[in-house]
Amino acid sequence: MASLSLKNINKVYSNGFKAVKDFNLEIADHEFIIFVGPSGCGKSTTLRMIAGLEDISSGDLLIDGVRVNDVEPKDRDIAMVFQNYALYPHMTVFENMAFGLKLRKLPKEEIKKKVEEAAEILDLGPLLQRKPKQLSGGQRQRVAMGRAIVRSPKVFLMDEPLSNLDAKLRVQMRTEISKLHQGLNATIIYVTHDQTEAMTLGTRIVVMSDGVMQQVDTPTNLYDHPDNLFVASFIGSPQMNFIVTQCIEENNELYLVFEGHKILLPENKAKVLREKGYIDKKVMMGIRPESLYDPEFCLKPLTQKIKAHVTVYEMVGAEAFLYFDLLSTTMTARVDPKTSARVGDEIELLIDTDKIHVFDIESEKKIVD
Ligand code: ATP
Repeated sequence: MASLSLKNINKVYSNGFKAVKDFNLEIADHEFIIFVGPSGCGKSTTLRMIAGLEDISSGDLLIDGVRVNDVEPKDRDIAMVFQNYALYPHMTVFENMAFGLKLRKLPKEEIKKKVEEAAEILDLGPLLQRKPKQLSGGQRQRVAMGRAIVRSPKVFLMDEPLSNLDAKLRVQMRTEISKLHQGLNATIIYVTHDQTEAMTLGTRIVVMSDGVMQQVDTPTNLYDHPDNLFVASFIGSPQMNFIVTQCIEENNELYLVFEGHKILLPENKAKVLREKGYIDKKVMMGIRPESLYDPEFCLKPLTQKIKAHVTVYEMVGAEAFLYFDLLSTTMTARVDPKTSARVGDEIELLIDTDKIHVFDIESEKKIVD
């Protein structure tokens, strides 16, 4: 178990490309930290710097308070699990898991004990004598995990470990990794571009874009209180709806106005917008699909409405999505599957104004939510 400290970490590749910019993060013992962001945002580079597979251009990396920038990867007491498993095809599952321990010249009996313990945790017992090609993708991934577990490292680093698996196996392995984290009490840093994986696994999530950390928070806070437009649009599926509005004041009440609509804001949000000088300015309104209600199924006493011309109706079982166009944007409402709304209908949706997010159009930062 270990704590990590990343201080002002930068990565500039030899061609001058800045892949990671001023990355600062304190990771406590037992945390399950996720690095998430679109392709090329620098998450793998950051992970590889922690592993020691990539030099740190500037800044300090500390493990349990000791600076390890110049410590060899093998001496960092870290185990890494990659997306391509990297198993030796000619070795059995047992031999694959034992390989690292053999290199470290551990006694045979101890190796056997460690491998069997890990196999028990991962339910690999009956497969120990098989070769990788005789295993399913999920089983191979478990062997790759097993190889990391037997080393009892201080920190597990995982780079998109589930990306080669089909959707069903991913969900299954996600639960297993979660259990593994609880069972091993390990510190885990996990890279993914999949926001669902990030939200379900992480105790804290680091959202990255263009080499810059955008927000570090618990899954709930990221979802409910995104700091900026990037995080608001990246976390959540279907994504948050955004619409450019004019903020106006009438008779001491604040409204967000956009084509044909005038939405009254609750006083707590109005107060912040007033104090920060946004009256008569354009602001970006954000509203999640589940905060728009089909009036027929709404149990909340909501009064503010949006007019919608339904362009797509998607029934996905426990819920239905209604897509409609407002100005030039397509918006989504997540409604009760029993909704009678269908393509072509002109409907009204109730909007939960307590759940409105307001962002500055230029800085893209949150003003209030
Ligand atoms: P992905 O999800 O696609 O793996 P990522 O967020 O993990 O993306 P990185 O692999 O960390 O992204 O790469 C970050 C940026 O650094 C990318 O723009 C990439 O092209 C660039 N990069 C990576 N390796 C090198 C290198 N050796 N030299 C120059 N640029 C590199």
